[in-house]
Amino acid sequence: MFAEILTIGDELTRGEIVDTNRSWLAQQLWDLDVTVRWMTSCRDDADDLRRAVTTAAGRADLVVCSGGLGPTEDDLTVDVVAEAVGAIPEIDPASRARLELFLGARGAPMTEIQLRQVRVPGGARVHPNGAGLAPGFEVEVGGVPVVCLPGFPREIHAIWDGGLGARLRALREARGGAPRIARRVFRVFGRGESQISQACRGVVDDVPGATIHYQVKFPETLVKIVVKDPDADAARARLDDIDAALRGRLGPHLYGTGDAALPEVVAAALRQARLTVGTAESCTGGMIAQLLTSVPGSSAFVVGGVVVYANAQKEALLGVSPATLAAHGAVSEACVREMAAGARRRLGVDLAVAVSGIAGPDGGTPDKPVGTVWLALARGDGDDHIDTKLLTWPGARDMVRTLASWWALRMILDAAGGPRG
Ligand code: ATP
Ligand code: MG
Repeated sequence: MFAEILTIGDELTRGEIVDTNRSWLAQQLWDLDVTVRWMTSCRDDADDLRRAVTTAAGRADLVVCSGGLGPTEDDLTVDVVAEAVGAIPEIDPASRARLELFLGARGAPMTEIQLRQVRVPGGARVHPNGAGLAPGFEVEVGGVPVVCLPGFPREIHAIWDGGLGARLRALREARGGAPRIARRVFRVFGRGESQISQACRGVVDDVPGATIHYQVKFPETLVKIVVKDPDADAARARLDDIDAALRGRLGPHLYGTGDAALPEVVAAALRQARLTVGTAESCTGGMIAQLLTSVPGSSAFVVGGVVVYANAQKEALLGVSPATLAAHGAVSEACVREMAAGARRRLGVDLAVAVSGIAGPDGGTPDKPVGTVWLALARGDGDDHIDTKLLTWPGARDMVRTLASWWALRMILDAAGGPRG
């Protein structure tokens, strides 16, 4: 089954926004064993849109469109698609009721303009929008299903989860020969892509229907295993065998599977271990605290943090000794040890992480080049309760800062007992 994805909007063709809808939709279709053969974008222009839709329906078995379902003048999808199937736009009663509730709660009147966004071509199958006002819909153009979705990514996701995904799976299965797909994403941090692919070499070679894919999502790498088989249980069993083998090969660099990225995995570990955490950040400027607090409910374990750039503040706020700074400099193991110990004491936390480094592009020296970052994690009183780590990874400023922040999270994770469940 071949599909075309058609994304609609002037913002796309002018280069003002990145087309994430097409990649998200492509990923979902791939999961359904639907091959995306074309990806097209067009302007908010009725003639162009008409041509794009008819071309897509003329060469694909399924067309999925996004954008142009809103209430404004430049939202043309309903009218153009209705015309293409010889239908008249009609108001979808359920979507109208939702719109009335939405406007009523805001004391806003119902207007003609507002009503435009709850129209669908007469006779279309409606795909309700749980996250917005404009519903998605589906029509047949020359016997080919054409699905039209709003532009907002979170609305597309809601429509997909609310039934469109199941509907397209059924369409795919009706064509027969659809294999069952078992897939798992393995999240790896602390090794480069080439080292990871080296470690994974051959792991799927003798497993029928299995493939391995790598996606670098700096600073981590996702290793994806896909197993296809007519029988769902057989696919899952083979995936589990590969899972066991991969864990052995990736060792501690594998920190989790599935959707939860490192901040969420760290949060789960801190919660389970009932530990609190604090931060003392120099070159990361608060990024570690930002990552930790990006997880909902983080107030259960994040106590606080300080951003300390100037040496005087490292002394005043964290109690770093002037002698240490004079002898070793701010980017040194001795300094981050004192930063972490000071943060742990002053914030009254179980775990305190500290970072000091040279993110660049300036500030490097021959013995401390750009990319030199010292990290420390204090998990108790005394020097033997402090772990340290030195990074020497030359790169662009934002990458050095991101990498250092992720290593700080990794150190917290280890101190909290590693990934859970
Ligand atoms: P609206 O009610 O805003 O008119 P709409 O369904 O007509 O919604 P668009 O106007 O095309 O959708 O897009 C709405 C917003 O969704 C855009 O401003 C943009 O932020 C986002 N968006 C649209 N298309 C894409 C895309 N292909 N990839 C990522 N984001 C997109
Ligand atoms: Mg719009």
